Amino acid sequence: MGINIELCQLIIAVVIIIYVCASNMKLKQIIIALAILWIPFCPVKASVPEGRPGVEYNIDAGFVPGENLVRGVERAVWRNGTDYPAAEIKMHLYMNAYRSNYTVFSRQARFEEMIGERASGSFGGTDILSLRVNGGADITKKISIYETVMTVPLAKPVKPGGAVTLMIEFETRIPSDAFRSGRAGDYYVFQGWYPKFGVFEGGAWNCRQFHPYTEFYADFADYDVRLKAPAHYILGGTGVKERSSLDGGASAEWRFRAQWVTDFAWTASPDFIVVKDRYKGVEIELLLQPFHRGAKEKYLKALKAAMESLGGMLGDYPYPKITLLDPYPGTGTDSMEYPMFITGGTSFFDYAVMGGTLSPEGVTAHEFAHQYFYGMLASDETAEAWLDEGFTTYAETMLMDEQGLRYRFDSPRFNLGRSLDLYAFTPSVISDNFLGFLDAFAVGGSFPAVSWRRISYVMAERRDPVANDGTRTYDYAAYGANSYSYPLLIFRTLGNVYGQNRLHAALREYVREWSFRHPKTGDAIRSISKSIGSDSERFLRQLLFTAGDVDYAVTDIRSAAETPASLNEKGKTEAKKTSASVKPLFRSVVTIERMGEVVLPVEIEVCFERGKPWRSKWDAMNRAAGTTATFGEWDDFKDMNGRQVMLREGVDGKWLKIYFLDSAKVVKGQVDPGYKLEVDRNLINNSYALSPDRKLQRGFVARCFNLLYKSFLTLSLLN
Ligand SMILES: [Zn+2]
Repeated sequence: MGINIELCQLIIAVVIIIYVCASNMKLKQIIIALAILWIPFCPVKASVPEGRPGVEYNIDAGFVPGENLVRGVERAVWRNGTDYPAAEIKMHLYMNAYRSNYTVFSRQARFEEMIGERASGSFGGTDILSLRVNGGADITKKISIYETVMTVPLAKPVKPGGAVTLMIEFETRIPSDAFRSGRAGDYYVFQGWYPKFGVFEGGAWNCRQFHPYTEFYADFADYDVRLKAPAHYILGGTGVKERSSLDGGASAEWRFRAQWVTDFAWTASPDFIVVKDRYKGVEIELLLQPFHRGAKEKYLKALKAAMESLGGMLGDYPYPKITLLDPYPGTGTDSMEYPMFITGGTSFFDYAVMGGTLSPEGVTAHEFAHQYFYGMLASDETAEAWLDEGFTTYAETMLMDEQGLRYRFDSPRFNLGRSLDLYAFTPSVISDNFLGFLDAFAVGGSFPAVSWRRISYVMAERRDPVANDGTRTYDYAAYGANSYSYPLLIFRTLGNVYGQNRLHAALREYVREWSFRHPKTGDAIRSISKSIGSDSERFLRQLLFTAGDVDYAVTDIRSAAETPASLNEKGKTEAKKTSASVKPLFRSVVTIERMGEVVLPVEIEVCFERGKPWRSKWDAMNRAAGTTATFGEWDDFKDMNGRQVMLREGVDGKWLKIYFLDSAKVVKGQVDPGYKLEVDRNLINNSYALSPDRKLQRGFVARCFNLLYKSFLTLSLLN
């Protein structure tokens, strides 16, 4: 929910006037209470900090399309804002990752079969032609470059509070089919194309080799970039831009300026259709491929919806402009975020024929959401990618839900009902992963964005914690699950358990508290749990810092008729009465297990042949360390929620057995009946029924056919 700032100010003024005029004390109290309730809906105009950031880049470069080359001079200023002296300077030369098939980047990407061998003519890299420190002599021979990291020695250290100015002449050749950067014909995207400072923290440079899984980390900087290009090229990128003609109209200079951003990326093509728009005081520029002109409205609508919703939830976008690039297909330049510049992705098939692939809607929402978590918070993505991608993926699926956008790969006539109902009656005899896949993929004729993300979670090996260094991750699927889908499910779980409004207020407070300050995982946990409740801190620490699974299961149900005969009835001895009021006919046992290491409180529901279901909560705590584990005795049946019940629990909280003596037979047990714990890895074992429902079994068979049909469609979509 969001309303504009002018309206907000008007309402504040009216409230103050009413308050001042009100004579009645009670009325005044009511006005104050209403004002407090209304504050969360009042938008905050987020803004960049006052003053200048610690880093400045002035780049003057020429773009030579025929040679896939940019040659330029960079004046880079770095101020030491820490308490430690810096004896040297370290800078990233990201494009050197593509210099050969044997760089750290290429080796890893090839070992993990993410890319093939690079052919001649497709390489790229950055060469340093000259480098001067503080106006001194050229020290190019003294610098050392190891692949993507350059070390510049200093004659004397930069003291705390001091500054250093580097003047660097460089030349960058852009590779084809790189990650994020790339080219095809006249189309180019330049990212990581200039020497860029690492981050000096704790007395050392955080400036690591570029890896395929890791993205970026940088200080905030001001950019003033002049790019000279042939006149027929259209350029776009980070910052606000102006164009002036040069050489009698044969070429042009594009000047881009941006304040308080962490990077500068740009694109060039003679063929862009430039669409100008405005939303809430922000200039929008959409650069479309001519063969995608039909996608214009979908792009703009998705972008504005994201600006509106995230503005209301997290505070308005603080920069004056956003550029959205529709990338040339197949160049690997899609789906990326840079400050004030995002790249989407679509195809004619996606936007005009299918619609249900959520391209470009999903990617546009996702990349714009990055403007907050990647752009304004700017955490270290090499060490803790989830801090950017996890929050962003949550925002993306929220935006899709808000707009009622769902994935739709098939015809509605295959929609045979909600699959979760099916699972509720299916004993867990089929492979977890297969059904997990089905769970994510085959939720009827269409499914929400979260289901699409859940696929990658259930299919990936869960061997790393979420807060995990990008270079130490098990494999690419694990990186994806831990950075994107698992955090998304963690946030959705928090929303289900604590309330979505509380979660969103917490996210807003986190963004407010940590903008322009590079938060770490601990900061995020403290900030969020402070807002939504302190017990959430314990859950978040388990979910983010351990590789443990969340998985609750109903593993067994037994229900048998008690023999009515007793010694008493035979006239010999009197049996012990189990209860004064209830005459039990069935003895039933429901076994619940905590299969994963992560401990979260879970709700339990047991259904009987007739009468109301029995419900309870289980905290599944490990009580081995002492305290008050209570174990039922066999005669210790108590009336709990209207049934005669006895509970026994394992000392480590790994299992709970629920014993019933009741006139009705138990037919089904379920943990987390409301599906609140979306982090639960296997939803199939959440329920157990004594006899599967025949109708639903028929539905299951139909669903399997449905899945095959969808898989076929999906395969035919892949290019
Ligand atoms: Zn992302």
